[in-house]
Amino acid sequence: MAIERTLSIIKPDAVAKNVIGQIYSRFEGAGLKVVAARMAQLSRAEAEGFYAVHKERPFFGALVDFMVSGPVMIQVLEGEGAIAKNRELMGATDPKKADAGTIRADFADSIDANAVHGSDAAETAAVEIAYYFPALNVYSR
Ligand code: ADP
Ligand code: MG
Repeated sequence: MAIERTLSIIKPDAVAKNVIGQIYSRFEGAGLKVVAARMAQLSRAEAEGFYAVHKERPFFGALVDFMVSGPVMIQVLEGEGAIAKNRELMGATDPKKADAGTIRADFADSIDANAVHGSDAAETAAVEIAYYFPALNVYSR
């Protein structure tokens, strides 16, 4: 499998629970490298733009409210099959349905506050990485 990059966000609920390090350990344990990272307080415009694909969904307003409710930790993960590997580590969107041992099963409380974001495909990974790290290739390659 090819070396890929994917965009990960540790959401406000998990940052508030002080589990950034525990989540980073999951990435590292699975062979994913953090190749860029920054902590941020998202503006509404940034959160709305990031989740624009969901803007017609009934939960869009609540999702944006949640994403701006506190600081987030945003990172680019790199490794073999990084996109699918990160999705496996995350578990299902609804933590009640997430497999035991996944990040969402262990750290998330609800489908609204579900601890992490991860890109779901190569195309979205490219768009999402460029959204938060427009200069990534300048400083990582
Ligand atoms: P994922 O984050 O697993 O890729 P989606 O892309 O489908 O999930 O949705 C983006 C985010 O929107 C989810 O992580 C979750 O926080 C929120 N969300 C999705 N579906 C619902 C829902 N039915 N009710 C409330 N929030 C939802
Ligand atoms: Mg998604």
